[in-house]
Amino acid sequence: MNKAESERIGSYLEQLGYQATATAEEADFIVLNSCVVRQSAENRVINKLNSLKFLKRLKPGITLALTGCLVNSEIDQLRKSFPYVDYFFKPGDYPLWMEKQNKLRKILPQHPSPSTFVTIIQGCDNFCSFCIVPYRRGRERSRRPVEIIGEVKELVGRGAKEVTLLGQNVDSYGYDLQDKPDLAELLSQINTIDGLARIRFLTNHPKDMSHKLIEAIAYLDKVCELICLPVQSGDNNILKAMRRGYTSEHYRQLVEQIRNKVAGVALSTDVIVGFPSESPGQFQQTVNLLSELRFDTVHIATYSPRPGTIASRQFEDDVPMAEKKERLHKIEQLQESIATEINAQLLGKTVEVLVEGKKGGKWQGRTRSGKLVFFNDNRDYLGRLVKIRVEKTSPWSLQGKVELSTTN
Ligand code: SF4
Repeated sequence: MNKAESERIGSYLEQLGYQATATAEEADFIVLNSCVVRQSAENRVINKLNSLKFLKRLKPGITLALTGCLVNSEIDQLRKSFPYVDYFFKPGDYPLWMEKQNKLRKILPQHPSPSTFVTIIQGCDNFCSFCIVPYRRGRERSRRPVEIIGEVKELVGRGAKEVTLLGQNVDSYGYDLQDKPDLAELLSQINTIDGLARIRFLTNHPKDMSHKLIEAIAYLDKVCELICLPVQSGDNNILKAMRRGYTSEHYRQLVEQIRNKVAGVALSTDVIVGFPSESPGQFQQTVNLLSELRFDTVHIATYSPRPGTIASRQFEDDVPMAEKKERLHKIEQLQESIATEINAQLLGKTVEVLVEGKKGGKWQGRTRSGKLVFFNDNRDYLGRLVKIRVEKTSPWSLQGKVELSTTN
């Protein structure tokens, strides 16, 4: 979501006549989009702000703006802590001076990447005990379908081939709107947009994902076979303390239902290790669940208390850091071997790749199921759907050769 918002802020500034620079040192205007989802992310923002403070001392003429989740309702406090920052604005907001100068109403990337993002719902009503998002991004607010569809059409008109619909919990989409449209209905409308090749969405919530949505993923041809379904823990008592609203049994059934309906579906999940009071046995439940369900991707984080959250107020952060790191490492190793095996099944197969750009001299793109693919070729493939024959696999990516270019 931050990436999508940064893209829009950049585009906004371009419309006002600014151009992107390669480094902060060359810039007249710097916008820092912050993330505080974990302590390590917050530390990085503070370090960056400190280095910008020195830059501002050397070049007093530059303008600094701070946005993202570090900007909470206590902006006065932030002004005191970072007096050298000129503007503070909350995620999704734009400072008034920008609004005033902006003659163009829409804030869309002028030259979107072939794969672009559209926010469909902001905020979250769930209050999982470890999570700071509802405090920083507020309650759920869905955008109207007509607005979203208009935006996707415009992005497609400017060259986008793939759109990822974003929300902290996309399964809640539409409940706060008058006609109560849901994500399945939104997907079927977006599926009819000419020129759009692929639709993705994230993130789902295991307690809210509906049968209707699973059917829509199975039957709508542009909706990709990749579902991000954070489990967070395999132990029911930890899930309860996390206030996740489901059990590991429910989660397993949901995965079974998805795999039965959606052919070739890839699944990714998020896990937190070292949540307060998590015993070795409870951690083992998570390991068992991951070994059994075999995800394509697992994002692992060590628990870090975020001030103001329910967990930070009610529980002691009592799992030692060394133990948390060991648990993290154990899951990383497990997942590496699972992903190695899953990806190896693609060896010699042909996959469809949407080419997003070049990295290290090679073209790179993703399959419908989200696998990162690299290939060498002198021709221009940017924004094209290409058939690639897979010649090498690793747990993180695939490499191959062009078989056939399907569209331009
Ligand atoms: S559903 Fe996601 S964003 Fe919402 S509180 Fe839980 S973890 Fe945070």
